[in-house]
Amino acid sequence: MKKIQLSKQGPSLSQIVYGVWRLGDNPDQANVNDVFKKIDAALETGMTTFDHADIYGNYGCEELFGMALAERPSLREGMEIVTKAGIKLISDKRPSHKIKSYDTSPQHLMSSLERSLKNLHTDHVDLFLIHRPDPFMDVDATAGVLDKMVSSGKAKHVGVSNFTTSQFSLLNSRLENKLVTNQVELSCLHMDTLHDGTVDQAMELNCSPMAWSPLGGGRLFTGSDDQSIRVSKTLEKLANKYSADTAQMALAWLLSHPAKIIPIIGTNNCDRIKSMAKACDIKLSREEWFEIWEASAGTEVP
Ligand code: NAP
Repeated sequence: MKKIQLSKQGPSLSQIVYGVWRLGDNPDQANVNDVFKKIDAALETGMTTFDHADIYGNYGCEELFGMALAERPSLREGMEIVTKAGIKLISDKRPSHKIKSYDTSPQHLMSSLERSLKNLHTDHVDLFLIHRPDPFMDVDATAGVLDKMVSSGKAKHVGVSNFTTSQFSLLNSRLENKLVTNQVELSCLHMDTLHDGTVDQAMELNCSPMAWSPLGGGRLFTGSDDQSIRVSKTLEKLANKYSADTAQMALAWLLSHPAKIIPIIGTNNCDRIKSMAKACDIKLSREEWFEIWEASAGTEVP
């Protein structure tokens, strides 16, 4: 699997990223041996980038993943770590949080990053993202702490997630170390960010977008709504031509796009991790791409 460089000065991430949001979902797999299996399955395919957030698994996934890095520190040099902060959950782990809220203050973002580094047993992350846009953000203060993360070496690069184009431009205008990505929801079941300027802005700035829930969070396989049924039938039909499966075709739809979109997969199944990596070898034609677009939109292009 090849690497994609996020922007001219940005980090190089694997073409498909492994996301760990669901890492601790199954209590039987929430142990270091199972984490090793998933890391090894991903690395075996060249999927070297791992997407975290402080809040994943009720503030527990980074610690679980970090146990694996503590046991095998040599793994760290062969991987890129992305993490995020800025959402405060109501949690037994954070008794001071009274309501669910966003916090992009320098104090919260820096202390969250430092805690992530401790949990992950590493001295830096390759990319730090603000998880959600914060309507109470003090842009100069937030830009200041992002630049400080980079100058201190605690984060090699910075970016955002779920930002609108104007929120992205605003924050970027105050930064010395420019944003290298916007991580957004994007899949053949969720095309909003393809049409609202998000992907256009990413291409303008040469910042590859990272696409979360590229299989609709599993809806592609379990959804009984009209859109899911239309899209999965179309993917199945095209999959026959490529000797592939539905998941690979959904990922190929993203990977074939000129914006160099980086899908973040979230399966907990090692065989599926390995199989999904093969999506990188599929190149859809323009008409096939639009066939999937049409199935998703439920109508032909205007
Ligand atoms: P996804 O890959 O779209 O969905 C994963 C889900 O699909 C899992 O529950 C998986 O179940 C299921 N699945 C995959 N293949 C399947 C198959 N062949 N048959 C049936 N079910 C199948 O992605 P996601 O987990 O929703 O999100 C991926 C990553 O994106 C997260 O880990 C996180 O890193 C990131 N994310 C970021 C944000 C943000 O706001 N920035 C938000 C959400 C997610 P199995 O485990 O059983 O395979």
